Amino acid sequence: MAEARLRRVRADNPSPLTGSGTNTWLVGEGAVTVIDPGPALPAHLEAILAALEPGEAVARIIVTHAHRDHSALARPLAKATGAPVLAFGPAEAGRSAVMTRLVAAGFEGGGEGADSDFAPDARLADGDRLDLPGHAATLEVIHTPGHMGGHLCLALGTLLFSGDHVMGWATSLVSPPDGDMRAYMTSLERLAAREWSRFLPGHGEAVEEPAARLAELLAHRRQREAQVRAALAESPGNATDLARRIYTDVSPTLLPAASRNVLSHLIDLSERNLASCDGVPSLSAPFRAV
Ligand SMILES: [Zn+2]
Repeated sequence: MAEARLRRVRADNPSPLTGSGTNTWLVGEGAVTVIDPGPALPAHLEAILAALEPGEAVARIIVTHAHRDHSALARPLAKATGAPVLAFGPAEAGRSAVMTRLVAAGFEGGGEGADSDFAPDARLADGDRLDLPGHAATLEVIHTPGHMGGHLCLALGTLLFSGDHVMGWATSLVSPPDGDMRAYMTSLERLAAREWSRFLPGHGEAVEEPAARLAELLAHRRQREAQVRAALAESPGNATDLARRIYTDVSPTLLPAASRNVLSHLIDLSERNLASCDGVPSLSAPFRAV
């Protein structure tokens, strides 16, 4: 059996958080599956349509998660092609119990890049399998909450479209309440339990050694957690203070994202009774070690 044809169309939206731009993946041929249509740039819509051969059509549009740099072009592409948009759900779908509780208690902030208008035509769930026309292989849906509650990865045999969950060039932003550190770690561990040949992420180049990258990311987060705990043991502080103390090697433009990552560790530590905070957690709320 021939392998499914893969094409990448990179969007022209480079930034510190999107790297060289969003990767839109075209899977199969004839009736093509589009994974992550990308940002709402007319030139990117044209580039996706231009990547199709004469006689080819888009059969379905899958969105890994409802961040605008992945999802915003879904509706224009659906209109242009007649293909349905498939995803886990709207931007808040899959939010963890912890984050749902914190939002109800008045937690503010987060929501960076969330596509609040996003509405898929049909919902995908963990374990769903989608046929690729002309191929024996199926696309397997893997729910990987963490970066966002509704984040999906798509497996094609041992190849994984990893969205923003696992990338080679950067770690993932885990910003509460859309992001949840415990869920993110669990999703990494779940992927690490399987054999993979290659990851094709939402930004940057392919990850050629997925097992090593997963191990590195898990170790990195455990080390960050240890740094947060050590800093808290020295003296109480809020997420922004702690990020300044811990992320000494990060450019100032990324400090807000680093602070959100630290807050996600602090909330996770609080849930495990290893840290505490009076009132509702926030970037400026002081936490202390327990
Ligand atoms: Zn994202």
